[in-house]
Amino acid sequence: MNKQPILYIVIPCYNEQEVLPITAPLFLQKIQQLSEAGKISPDSRVLFVNDGSKDRTWEIIGKLAKDNEHFIGICQSRNRGHQNAVLAGLMEAKDRCDITISIDCDGQDDINAMDEMVDAYLDGCEVVYGVRSKRDTDTFFKRFTAEGFYKLLNKMGAEVVYNHADYRLVSSRVLQEFANFKEVNIFLRGMFPLVGFKSTSVYYERHERIAGESHYPLSKMLALAFDGITSLSVKPIRLITGFGVFVSIFSLIGVIWATVQHLLGHTVAGWASTTAIVCFVSGVQLLSLGVIGEYIGKIYLETKARPRYIISERTWEENDR
Ligand code: UDP
Ligand code: MG
Repeated sequence: MNKQPILYIVIPCYNEQEVLPITAPLFLQKIQQLSEAGKISPDSRVLFVNDGSKDRTWEIIGKLAKDNEHFIGICQSRNRGHQNAVLAGLMEAKDRCDITISIDCDGQDDINAMDEMVDAYLDGCEVVYGVRSKRDTDTFFKRFTAEGFYKLLNKMGAEVVYNHADYRLVSSRVLQEFANFKEVNIFLRGMFPLVGFKSTSVYYERHERIAGESHYPLSKMLALAFDGITSLSVKPIRLITGFGVFVSIFSLIGVIWATVQHLLGHTVAGWASTTAIVCFVSGVQLLSLGVIGEYIGKIYLETKARPRYIISERTWEENDR
């Protein structure tokens, strides 16, 4: 590569007015430092994506953009969730830069890992995953649930890089291909491995949140895990099929047993066994229907093909550049 790549750091922000004034200068510093080292172009930018915040986040982004040309921002028309916010930022960036790095705005992910990410890109990798080396700073509960999350995902057939969230470098070349993945239900960390291209991992230590609160309590994390599994894999349906076969074989044995008992004239009052079987089988059926319904729901959402994000404002004029 003879020219320095333009880097866009893509940062989703939802109600982050406490954190943004602290972390924004750090991102700017990182860009300046990388460009002074000659690794990236001075035209690199920090791109904030305001995900329909209800506080002063967008105002702060607007002010940052006014004060320094390296800060730019887009605003989603309403809150659409972290994944859609990152997607909006990446799609916005893909035609303006050579590489993107997506990172949370709360200072938890070590920005110094960006040096290594850019080095890996310059060595020919198109995707560089940021992987947490340890979770010492997380509470026991967060660590336990988060690690369970990755294990569950992999067991259920959704391949994700262990302990990698959404801190990653992706080249614009990969993003151009990724733009052809038209699905509405998106789970970015599981989708980039599907795009392929040469990739590697960079390890970093995760810090505590600088300020504000996590937007991912257990309920949201479970929802994300379930969403990830059903978006990337049909393994739950296969499991149901397998279980169905298993129950059917038992039922067949049961039918034969009942017939033989009947022919032998042993008519016992089998209330308990009958009730137990009815309860068990109806429970299994409802659960299975629920899982299948979940997939049908996804098909329903996909067929509508609604836009995955809507940008309502930008800190720059559309035809500025
Ligand atoms: N975020 C977002 N939309 C949401 C929720 C979160 O854009 O609906 C952003 C948030 O501002 C942060 C990142 O996603 O930059 C990760 O969120 P958080 O730090 O709350 O999650 P955690 O690190 O605790 O998993
Ligand atoms: Mg966080």
